[in-house]
Amino acid sequence: MRLTIMNTSVVPRNHHTPPGTVYLIGAGPGDPGLITVRGRALIETADVIVYDQLGAPVFLTLARPDAELIDVGKRAGRHTVPQPEINRLLVEHAQRGRQVVRLKGGDPMVFGRGGEELDALVDAGIPFEVVPGVSSAIAGPSYAGIPLTHRDCTTALAIATAHEADLKEESTIPWSSLSGINSTVFLMGVAQLANIVDHLLRQGRNTTTPIAIIENATTPRQRTVTGTLADIVNRAHEAAVKPPALIVVGEVVRFHDRFNWFEKRPLFGRSIAVTRASAQAATMADRLQALGAEVVLSPAITIHPIDPNPLFESFLHEINSYRDVVFTSVNGVEVFFNQLRQRGKDARLLAGHSIICIGPATGDACRQHGIIPDFIPETFVAESLLPWFQNRPPARTALLRAESARDLLPDGLRRHGCQVNVIPLYRTDFVPQAGADLLTRLRDNTIDAVTFTSSSTVDAFCRWLAATDLDRRTIPAVAIGPVTADTCRERGLQPIAEASVHTIPGLIDLLLQRFGRTS
Ligand code: SAH
Repeated sequence: MRLTIMNTSVVPRNHHTPPGTVYLIGAGPGDPGLITVRGRALIETADVIVYDQLGAPVFLTLARPDAELIDVGKRAGRHTVPQPEINRLLVEHAQRGRQVVRLKGGDPMVFGRGGEELDALVDAGIPFEVVPGVSSAIAGPSYAGIPLTHRDCTTALAIATAHEADLKEESTIPWSSLSGINSTVFLMGVAQLANIVDHLLRQGRNTTTPIAIIENATTPRQRTVTGTLADIVNRAHEAAVKPPALIVVGEVVRFHDRFNWFEKRPLFGRSIAVTRASAQAATMADRLQALGAEVVLSPAITIHPIDPNPLFESFLHEINSYRDVVFTSVNGVEVFFNQLRQRGKDARLLAGHSIICIGPATGDACRQHGIIPDFIPETFVAESLLPWFQNRPPARTALLRAESARDLLPDGLRRHGCQVNVIPLYRTDFVPQAGADLLTRLRDNTIDAVTFTSSSTVDAFCRWLAATDLDRRTIPAVAIGPVTADTCRERGLQPIAEASVHTIPGLIDLLLQRFGRTS
């Protein structure tokens, strides 16, 4: 993926290439789940993506690896690329025959300057499509539990800009018309709040009229401040409200207390770091997000099948000399079946063997491949496998697992007289750098929990810490079970909590108990 900060080069036009299409796509208000299916599909296939909104980076990860990504937005120390320059970029890239996605926050046609871009495209004869988005003006109030219209009190709704330029001496906003409309949403208005209130009062709106400010709507940082035209300026000042924010004026604001679903979710306002390998992080992140948490993804390990793998080859060769095959992780199951597939084999290879899967998730992974496990012990301690072995005559057992896993389990089983052969299937490599802004956030004390789902994630995390001055004892480590918690302690972390059910759902339950709001 190529990242171009701002491409000002003049691209020579090739007269023989038919122009590509420009897609004006609404990225939605911030919650990544609020983009349209069509918008997403076009991002995945675009040659060029011109973007400018803060919520966009998450969608950029969907782009083709060779797509050109052009940032025309405000970033530290730089100003927005001027609109004529953006128009020119769209036209020129399309003229080179490229499919161009122009990604804009909310809906491209709601105070998004979409019309100006279409003007430029029409002038240049470039084909285009508009993919509407969920506007923050609509989504923000919904996420704040404010129904923009309500049968009891609304017959008309207005969406207005309150940009500084529109509020100068001769305001271009039709204040007298707005005064007769039940619900009004102002965009770009935080800095102008006092001015807006002043205009509304001068038009005869009552001082008791309810008003809400919704900051960072639809994101884990959403905050709603409510009041009346009489006190909202003070309240906003006390709360230090910052853009981006929406202002909603009207009786409908009264419903906020009753319908405020989003900010009341159990983990809302909590920031949870997830260190497990990115391939597996998604399901855990999805569940945490659904509970309202902000998820800070920072995969600490990557999984690589061992290849070539002589021990696995001899295992396949002698598989009939084994009675039991033990899988210790979902990764082990996935790598195993992939390796079989690559050799033109399938689950029938396991016919006649007893399959033991440690933990319910490993069991589920096996079922996905058509194998119903014979026994699913809950934990990694040897004792949890003994009920299986104690009722059967001794036989060879293959333990399929990670290369660097600890020997506690096989050693424990051997002590009980089991014949265990360890077959390493995959390596876990440490990710050299912490993801996103995890370390900065830890330093700022804005992470409530760093979750560890295996000892290797702890080891990798501690390597990141070694390069910083962060005190290990201050890290809010949360471990999936006793083995991972022990590794934490050995590395100088002091786990603040340890799940009693050693699964992802068990870990999430623990986070709910520890951090969940009750009201
Ligand atoms: N086309 C966009 C609006 C662009 S104007 C849309 O349809 O949403 C930019 C203004 O939108 C901001 O100043 C702010 O008032 C509002 N806005 C955009 N995203 C927001 C968010 N997540 N929370 C609150 N306000 C938001």
